[in-house]
Amino acid sequence: MKKILIVEDELNMVQGLKDNLEFEGYEVDAAMEGSSGLQKVLQGKYDLILLDVMLPEVSGFDICKAARKAGVDTPVILLTAKGEEIDKVLGLELGADDYITKPFSLRELLARIKAILRRSSNGGEGHSEPEFVSIGNIQVNFRNYLARDRDQEIKMSHKEFEVLHYLYQNAGKTIHRDDLMSSVWSIDYDITTRTVDNFILKLRQKIESDPNHPKIILTVHGVGYKLIAG
Ligand code: CA
Repeated sequence: MKKILIVEDELNMVQGLKDNLEFEGYEVDAAMEGSSGLQKVLQGKYDLILLDVMLPEVSGFDICKAARKAGVDTPVILLTAKGEEIDKVLGLELGADDYITKPFSLRELLARIKAILRRSSNGGEGHSEPEFVSIGNIQVNFRNYLARDRDQEIKMSHKEFEVLHYLYQNAGKTIHRDDLMSSVWSIDYDITTRTVDNFILKLRQKIESDPNHPKIILTVHGVGYKLIAG
């Protein structure tokens, strides 16, 4: 039986989650303060942690950070309130695996719990790269081809993910159009530098807040492109 720890200071929330998760067949433990939550997290005996960000004394962020520092790699789903967008990015950088914004539907939470437990029991891949990385205002999960702008999913093709990933791996460096073509498209694929430019234009429409003034994928005139991360 999978064990889930809830760290949350709102009693109604704790009770509601506990009942529903137990009904779904999970073993559930709960802590209602940051300090006791941290102690339980550090025991490392859970399969997943639902961690509220806004806790008295020790915040969810502090717990997440302390856990990762202590080598506890239990998957964490942050429970954030509306208007805490910056906190989500920070949380993911501190080592959380996912976040969900209150109020959320139980169905959505269960889906995310299942997805994370499935991934972590497949195991072996470790946590060398966080699930989601921040690029500008967006979060991208290259392993599972997911991208989000705050809570909004960004629909991108596999090729768009590949291009973005290639640029991300070379963040800060100028990438020649020819490099992009040979790395992402196969050599014999009939594309021209104009195809690459049009492709980047379309990609910007999806990921840039202002596609006319890009902040993520910059044009290096006459050469190619450069991705600015963070
Ligand atoms: Ca709270």
